[in-house]
This record gives sequence, C-alpha cells and structure tokens, in this order.
Amino acid sequence: MLDPATCPHKNFTTNAGVSLVVDSKKKQTTGFQLTAKVRCDDCGQPFHFPGLPICGKVALVPSAIDDGTTLVVPMQVGDAKVSLN
Ligand SMILES: [Zn+2]
Repeated sequence: MLDPATCPHKNFTTNAGVSLVVDSKKKQTTGFQLTAKVRCDDCGQPFHFPGLPICGKVALVPSAIDDGTTLVVPMQVGDAKVSLN
C-alpha cells in the first residue's frame, strides 16, 4: 500500500448503488437515489466530493454524507420530461 502523501492516485475502485426513497406514511416510492463511493486502490484513501452540501437520509439535491466521502444524488425514472408525480 502506497503512502497517500506520495501516491499518484491513478487506480480506483467505485462502489455505487441505487436505493428507493419511500414515503413511510403513504408507503409509496417517491423517488430513487444513487449512492457512490470512490477509493484509491494504491493507497486506500477515499475520495470526497467538495462543494456538496451534507444531507440527511434523503438527498433533495446532489449531496454528500459520511464526511463527504459518499455521493448521494436524487434520481427519477425516464428522461427529464417524465416524472412520477
Ligand atoms: Zn492513492
């Protein structure tokens, strides 16, 4: 494992997943969100996403959690002209 201070950070592992956003009172899916993490394979350091707000359980706009190292992005099905509402 390379020292993060001298690592060129040229190899990456990305973990991403999609989760449902559910209105617990209505028991309906109201949207989806993408969650992604990126880590350097050579030194093990996580990447962070500067400039994003830190969100709670549900992201209303692209946000970050876990000290900024997890990207959370709201999503909807279909093209931008289609909405679940
Ligand atoms: Zn690295």
